[in-house]
Amino acid sequence: MFRNAINLFEIFGFKIRVDPSWLLIAALIVWSLSSAYFPANLPGYSHYDYIALGIAAMLGLFASLILHELAHALVARQFGLQIGGITLFIFGGVAELEQEPRNPKSEFWIAVAGPAMSFALSGLAFLALHGLDISGVSPSLHEVVAYLGLINLILALFNLVPAFPLDGGRVLRAVLWWMKDDLLWATRIASNLGTGFGALLILSGVLSLFTANSVGGLWQILIGFFIISASTGSYRQLEIKTALKDQTVRSLMAKSPKTADVNDDVATLVDDIMLARNVSFVPVLEGEHLLGYVDTSLVHAIDRENWSTARLGDILVPASDENTVPADMPMDLLFEKMARSGRRKMLVGQGGRLDGVIALADLVSYLAIRNGLGLSGERDRQQGRQPHLHRS
Ligand SMILES: [Zn+2]
Repeated sequence: MFRNAINLFEIFGFKIRVDPSWLLIAALIVWSLSSAYFPANLPGYSHYDYIALGIAAMLGLFASLILHELAHALVARQFGLQIGGITLFIFGGVAELEQEPRNPKSEFWIAVAGPAMSFALSGLAFLALHGLDISGVSPSLHEVVAYLGLINLILALFNLVPAFPLDGGRVLRAVLWWMKDDLLWATRIASNLGTGFGALLILSGVLSLFTANSVGGLWQILIGFFIISASTGSYRQLEIKTALKDQTVRSLMAKSPKTADVNDDVATLVDDIMLARNVSFVPVLEGEHLLGYVDTSLVHAIDRENWSTARLGDILVPASDENTVPADMPMDLLFEKMARSGRRKMLVGQGGRLDGVIALADLVSYLAIRNGLGLSGERDRQQGRQPHLHRS
């Protein structure tokens, strides 16, 4: 999701990363705190003092966001889920779970952990303020701590709005999931609320564009669109995964794909296979043994005058876990793997044997046929019916 994120450090085995988009929001925060918030709450300081306070408060917010995500990540790990790392980006932070929670209980506790951490941080800040008042430290330190107490309280409350994919929406989904044991139904309700909340944010953002606060209004509009796309996207993804659950790669793959020999030259590959058979992804064999694949982008990288001399053995991508899946892999796992890696085509086989080729297009056409027949994962289960739709 965040290809340009910069690694910062590691804590409890989690990599903490910052997407460049966070720098934009960090600069915006320093600017608004040092030009408006601190001058209003703490008059009589110099411009540079306000900038220093703004930077201190921004770093405190940075640490608060990391701690919020760290709480999600630690609880997720407790439930045995893999976590890719924690990344801060333009809309805050995200703990990158490599798998979705497996049951309502783990989803509930993972979701609750973040806001609980933010509430705790807010409480700590306000307690510290009380201590600072008694010991009479500098008013500027007092203001920064007060800001952090307030911002953590806002973070906790905002994230608890029951709008998927916000934490509160996940909590709601977990409860609904637990009540009816139907994840798809629970996700649909929670993500509909997410879409509604996103629309509300956009509406209120547009309204405040016409009043004074145009930066804040623009911000609400952006967050609103982000929530809408995340909530509808994750529902659609789950719908696809549910539809694919009972299928294996074998049932949807192309079973006897056109193959090439490792000693073929590129010109033969292009003329006799790619153009003649209309295929862009070709498994390469040595005898019966699967070595890897070639595709149009590999051919494209070679100068045309070398096509008749270059051998496929020189350019092929060797078969590996990255590009090869076993035929008995469940389709929902293949879908996850394709989404994660960005690959649209994969070899199917095991131990040097080629069983077939599977493409994202195969999944898409299968789903389109299901859709055309009015089959959704939800209805299948309600009627106790298993989908039987195999492509031969
Ligand atoms: Zn959270």
